[in-house]
Amino acid sequence: MNKNYIFSLLSLFLFSLGHAQSYKKPLISAIKETDLRKDMYEMAADQFWGREAGTLDELKVSMWLADKAKEAGMQPAGDHGTFFQFFEMYRHQITSQSSLKIGDKNLNLWKDFLVAEPVNTSVDGEIVYTGNTEPEDLSKFNIKGKVLAVNASDKNIDKEMTLFVRRYPGFVRTKYYNKAYELGAKAIIFITDDISEKSWVEVLPQMTRGSYGVEGLREKITNNIPILWIKRENASWVKNNPKLSLNLITETYKYPSVNVIGKIEGTDPVLKSEYVLLSGHQDHDGIRHPVKNDTIYNGADDNASTCVAMLAMARAYKKQPGKRSILFVFHGAEERGLLGSRWHAAHPVVPKEKIVAVLNGDMIGRNDNNEAALLGGNAPHKNSEELVKMAEDANNESTKFKYLKDWDSPNHAEYFYFRSDHLPYAKIGIPAVFFTSVLHDQYHTPQDESENINYKKLYKMTEWMYRTSWKVANETERPKVIANFSLER
Ligand SMILES: [Zn+2]
Repeated sequence: MNKNYIFSLLSLFLFSLGHAQSYKKPLISAIKETDLRKDMYEMAADQFWGREAGTLDELKVSMWLADKAKEAGMQPAGDHGTFFQFFEMYRHQITSQSSLKIGDKNLNLWKDFLVAEPVNTSVDGEIVYTGNTEPEDLSKFNIKGKVLAVNASDKNIDKEMTLFVRRYPGFVRTKYYNKAYELGAKAIIFITDDISEKSWVEVLPQMTRGSYGVEGLREKITNNIPILWIKRENASWVKNNPKLSLNLITETYKYPSVNVIGKIEGTDPVLKSEYVLLSGHQDHDGIRHPVKNDTIYNGADDNASTCVAMLAMARAYKKQPGKRSILFVFHGAEERGLLGSRWHAAHPVVPKEKIVAVLNGDMIGRNDNNEAALLGGNAPHKNSEELVKMAEDANNESTKFKYLKDWDSPNHAEYFYFRSDHLPYAKIGIPAVFFTSVLHDQYHTPQDESENINYKKLYKMTEWMYRTSWKVANETERPKVIANFSLER
């Protein structure tokens, strides 16, 4: 055996050793359940009144988050050296000047009738009452240039979904709208059935709030035909085909929201210019209809859970930075349609190509301690083999969650992959995954509160996200995007 051979063997050994240990272990001990608990009780407290996007409450919690981010060791990474990236939402809202007269009866907006989506329109015409007719039989009636009145029905509507009652008017709309439009109807009146009777109290706050958009999304109101709802106890109003006179006036105005953004710089002179983006959303649903005598929708799991996890991870990165930098983005206005993440994906505070991956969390503090979902972990939602492998390796190291894989299936009734802040980033070609402990009975109710969080679970989910981010921050190669990845929905 010659010396050169021994030398090359030795260097191969040293190389593999060096390669396997080319970076430190994650500093798990810096993540503390007591911190998660303390921050949770502050952020999801009644003092922030449910953190609704565009309100002073969202601005107040943004100040709280910025203070916390600073305390945890982040540097500001928002606009003009601050922690804030403000953006404008567009809000479209039906005004109280709107009116409806059926026959000789004047009806009261939001009391006697609901308007499903904001439009500007005047309709004068005859009502054609079609009773229980399903969409495929509507053509038996002449509704061209007239107003269709129909009894809502749940036939052919999939009922396997959380918040089904809240979403139901939308499903009914989808079921009838195109057919009615095609047949020339000028407006639609739905008369409630059992499910929509129940849904009235839930959809009222949604409809009165109106709709929200951001640059590139719902900037203007639609030209759709108006959709009204009346209660079945008032069905007699439309049964004898009277005349209707409807005037809907919608106002559109700009409305502020804000992303809170901080960073912790990496240690590698080259890789520090690249960023691992940790993502959560700070907003929730504000004050709404009472459930069990409570009206404040605190959003502890949704999504103070990820915000406090991000603060905990920041403390760990402050003590032991990675090679790459970490960008912490607490998105605003997620509940109004992923508006903050849409904005930041379009206007990132660091160059887009320097964001190596997005690790988003949403609702990470509930349900079984040993189960969790990684959305974007499986085809067709998976957009990076390497990133998913890092998340899976991180899980195998310690947390050992059993994956709730069906939640990542394109056939899952919730379409959950499409419902959080990683989505706008995945759409622009950044490797992205979504960590979640999934839905529960108290989802989007005032009972989503600090005392109902499973802190052991929240700790484990934080650990999983942190271990994953640590790999992304330190591996030599950044995760690649799967070629030709595209999202169907
Ligand atoms: Zn959420």
